[in-house]
Amino acid sequence: MEDSFRHKGLRQKLVEELRQKGISDERVLAAIGKVPRHVFMDSSFINYSYKDKAFPIGAGQTISQPFTVAFQTQLLEVKPGDKVLEIGTGSGYQAAILIELGARVFTVERQKELYVKAMHLLPQLGYRPTFFFSDGTLGLPAYAPFDKIIVTAAAEEIPQPLLQQLKVGGRLVVPVGKKNAQQMMLVEKISETEFRKSSHGNFIFVPLLKGIEIK
Ligand code: SAH
Repeated sequence: MEDSFRHKGLRQKLVEELRQKGISDERVLAAIGKVPRHVFMDSSFINYSYKDKAFPIGAGQTISQPFTVAFQTQLLEVKPGDKVLEIGTGSGYQAAILIELGARVFTVERQKELYVKAMHLLPQLGYRPTFFFSDGTLGLPAYAPFDKIIVTAAAEEIPQPLLQQLKVGGRLVVPVGKKNAQQMMLVEKISETEFRKSSHGNFIFVPLLKGIEIK
């Protein structure tokens, strides 16, 4: 799909809007300015691609609001070469942002339809994460440990396997809470047994679901 001057212009406006809303990490803003969000959108919403809003992507799921993507990514402090686990591939947009920041991305999705769609789309754009179709609450023990872990659906509580699969010195960003409001939690792993938790404001995500959906 074409990335026109109009799309690039709208994307720069979005970057300015995110800056005004408090996103200050220039690398994150540059990544948002680079990834063509319209390519990840469902065709019925394509004209809204550069609005700071979440939109349906099929299978009852949404592509996260750009502010939320930028905020979570900023909290994660991705460094080039970081091994990053993403739970909830969805459209693949967040994975593309992480790859722009130089991460090696392992992304997990529990819904077959979305997993297949993202697996086809991302490589066409030059983004090559490793895709997994499984229950992300279990993490990926065979590929652990990770420098960073990002969860893009709401968890009622922090999944224990993710804490175990984080490197010492690593960061986990996860929205935690009930259905209608979650707190964005940052968990820093201080040692094998010590974690520092901090809370970074209210967000609303679709719920993290147990098990996998096989259709
Ligand atoms: N990061 C996505 C946002 C996706 S919304 C993007 O950039 O578009 C959250 C996604 O998490 C949905 O696709 C949903 O199917 C997925 N999900 C929900 N529970 C899950 C689980 N247990 N394991 C993996 N993915 C899950």
